[in-house]
Amino acid sequence: MGAFKTLDDLGDVTGKVALVRVDLNLPMDGGQVTDKTRIHASAPTILELAGKGAKVLLLAHFGRPGGERSSTQSLSMVIDAVQEVLGKEVMFVPEVAGPVVAQAVGILRPGDIAVLENTRFWKGEEANDPAFAKAIAANGDFFVNDAFSAAHRAHATTEGLTHYLPSYAGRSMQAELEALGKALGDPERPVAAVVGGAKVSSKLAVLKHLVSKVDHLIIGGGMANTFLAARGVDVGKSLCEHDLTDTAEEIMGAADQAGCTVHLPYDVVVAKEFAANPPSLRTCNVHEVAADEMILDVGPQAVEALADVLKTCRTLVWNGPLGAFETEPFDAATVALAKTAAALTKEGSLVSVAGGGDTVAALNHAGAAQDFTYISTAGGAFLEWMEGRELPGVAALER
Ligand code: ADP
Ligand code: MG
Repeated sequence: MGAFKTLDDLGDVTGKVALVRVDLNLPMDGGQVTDKTRIHASAPTILELAGKGAKVLLLAHFGRPGGERSSTQSLSMVIDAVQEVLGKEVMFVPEVAGPVVAQAVGILRPGDIAVLENTRFWKGEEANDPAFAKAIAANGDFFVNDAFSAAHRAHATTEGLTHYLPSYAGRSMQAELEALGKALGDPERPVAAVVGGAKVSSKLAVLKHLVSKVDHLIIGGGMANTFLAARGVDVGKSLCEHDLTDTAEEIMGAADQAGCTVHLPYDVVVAKEFAANPPSLRTCNVHEVAADEMILDVGPQAVEALADVLKTCRTLVWNGPLGAFETEPFDAATVALAKTAAALTKEGSLVSVAGGGDTVAALNHAGAAQDFTYISTAGGAFLEWMEGRELPGVAALER
């Protein structure tokens, strides 16, 4: 990872206009914001800039209006929630560029905050149109990007603005980049990766990238079945992508070459039907799965062995649950390994970073999330980072 500027590099910003890209793509129900996590994530950046006397203009997208105004996707709907989290009055400006924004800037006093309209009401946002970015930049003195979750898109307010204004990472962006850098950039070794979830096909690029980066690749979830099948195991009725067994073999070959140990479960939890605590539930060796059974979780012996692997490691990245954790007792392996990782992190022997929608839910369910070093809530951007891809919004800050 290259170097990027942070708010520590700002000089005196009193009366200067900060254009701040944040994530206000909030879950809503009946016009009400149902989860304010994303506002909380950027509150430190917003309040720090306001505290330093900047006029803070917030830029964000909401939903997919496709380049047209849409009354049901206006950011005016999030103003109450933003005010509540920030504990300050916030102005709404129904434009992102031009004289209306200039007028608002004239009214705002140093330390005041405004939310500009949904950037995706204009086609120039997703097209990363330089003229659009330039028009937004015209009302600002500097740009702060605090939305890692949007950094995998090269849009006008994630990438374009950096061409026209001095640009800085906000505190949330900075924390995310520092945590990810510690996990895969220049990690302390040995490094373990846990990759689970439903399908190999959704995480091929992740697996291929990780074998060259980590010392231990722990494969769980439905995707482990495809790897087991590639090794000649009969996985019965399990979720399995039989057409990808060659690919699984290639990945194991590449791991071998790179000196990465691939860990597959040798005992598993199976059932004949997918339901909570089904009567057919049992634990067996992977070679004993019957034709009418499905593998729904990693077995307890394998979990113990995996815990021993983590004890030898200094760094862990985790994406994807080890089993069908939404249904009991198929959460057991995920919960147990998450608790081990959390305890090792708390002791100071492990740096642990996790991300992915279901992964975050699973780690919360395990009560382990708060003890991880860093939990990324940035879905798509986190996965692209795990694939080793350059994120345009991040690369732009590093230029
Ligand atoms: P994330 O959102 O964290 O990237 P995924 O979406 O890739 O994770 O995978 C999560 C899903 O994988 C969960 O819904 C879970 O039930 C499912 N899953 C895990 N193990 C199995 C399994 N053995 N069989 C079927 N589904 C599984
Ligand atoms: Mg998911």
